[in-house]
Amino acid sequence: MINHKSGRLTVINDLGDTLECLCDCGKTTVVNKKYFNAGDVKSCGCLKKDTEYINLREKFEEKRVDGVAMHLFSDKARKDSSTGYRGVSKYYTRKSKELRYRAWITVDGKKYYKSGFLTAEQAYNVGRKYLEEKYLPKQK
Ligand SMILES: [Zn+2]
Repeated sequence: MINHKSGRLTVINDLGDTLECLCDCGKTTVVNKKYFNAGDVKSCGCLKKDTEYINLREKFEEKRVDGVAMHLFSDKARKDSSTGYRGVSKYYTRKSKELRYRAWITVDGKKYYKSGFLTAEQAYNVGRKYLEEKYLPKQK
């Protein structure tokens, strides 16, 4: 059985009922000979992880096609230079010229605002959350 291959696995040791295999990723793993011969086991487990990662990417791409780049709403927000929060901008009230903050998002090329916040932090935490819940496509 030595040097037999199944997917990413190469047999390096025949242990009787089981086989010690070297995976392409560098890990060794012990698999049941029956499963190996049936082609049920093709990696140390890393193949499954890669597949899950690809599925995640595909989901992400689907969302992007919906018109919204979801990565824009991740917590690792690039900070906006003027307010310190992405998707938050400053403005002044018309009459009293007081400083206020508004949150905004772009969905399908349209901009939506939620105004009237006293701090950028509030606009980001409350305003953006409100906008995302109201205007972003619902998660399937
Ligand atoms: Zn592996």
